[in-house]
Amino acid sequence: MSGTRRGLLIILSSPSGAGKSTLARRLRDWDPDIVFSISATTRAPRPGEVDGREYHFSDEATFKQMVDDGEMLEHAFVFGNFYGSPRKPVEKAFESGQDVLFDIDWQGAQQIANSTLDTHTLSIFLLPPSIAALKSRLEARGQDDAATIARRMEKSWDEISHWDSYDYVLVNDDLDTTEAQLKTIITATRLRRKQQPDLVEHVRGLQAEFKDLT
Ligand code: ADP
Ligand code: 5GP
Repeated sequence: MSGTRRGLLIILSSPSGAGKSTLARRLRDWDPDIVFSISATTRAPRPGEVDGREYHFSDEATFKQMVDDGEMLEHAFVFGNFYGSPRKPVEKAFESGQDVLFDIDWQGAQQIANSTLDTHTLSIFLLPPSIAALKSRLEARGQDDAATIARRMEKSWDEISHWDSYDYVLVNDDLDTTEAQLKTIITATRLRRKQQPDLVEHVRGLQAEFKDLT
C-alpha cells in the first residue's frame, strides 16, 4: 500500500534549558519531513539568532494585531514577552503530510489540545534529571546573563508542574537515549490509524478481493 500520511503536530515542552531545541534539531536532521513551527515573539533576538529562522521577531503592536486577526494558532505570555505560533504555515505543512514540531510552553500546548487539531497532536514533556543539572545546562549554554538565568530557574517549577498533561514524559538525562526515545514515539504515533487516511481505501480493496474469492 502506498499510503499518504496525515501530518502530526509534535509539541515539545520543558523548563528552559532541559534540551528542547537540541533535541528538536536532532529530530529535524533525522527526518526532513519534520518542519519547525517558527514562532513569533516580542522578545529581542539573542546573539546569533536570525529573524525568520529561530523566531519571527516582532513588536508588540504587530504581534497583537496578528492575534486579533486570528493568525495565531496559540499564543502566550512567557518570561515577560509574547510568543505565538502562526497558523498558516502549520496548516500548510500539516495538510501536505509533514509533521510540525512546536517548541512551546504548557499554555500553548493546552490551547492546541483544546483545538480541533487535538486528534493529530503528539505532546511530549522533557524533564531534567535534576534541578542542579538544569541550572548548569542554562549556564553552559552561555546565551543568558546571570539575571536571566535566575529568572528562568524561578519559572522552571511553574513549567514542570504541568508535566502530567502531556502524552509522553521523558527524563532527558543522556541525550542520545532521549533522542532514540523520541524517534520511537514519533514512529509509533505516525502509525496510528487516524494518521493513515488511505487505510480505508486499502481495506475496501481487500474486501473486494475477498468477495471475488467467495
Ligand atoms: P531548551 O531549548 O529546552 O531551553 P537547549 O536545547 O538549549 O534547551 O539545552 C540547554 C543546554 O543543555 C544546551 O547547551 C544543550 O547542549 C545542553 N543539553 C541538552 N540536553 C542535554 C543532555 N541530555 N545532557 C547534557 N547537556 C544537554
Ligand atoms: P526562549 O525565549 O528561551 O526562546 O523561549 C522561552 C519559552 O517560550 C520556552 O519555554 C518556549 O518553549 C516558549 N515558546 C517559544 N515559542 C512559543 C510559542 O509560539 N508559543 C508558546 N506558547 N510558547 C512559546
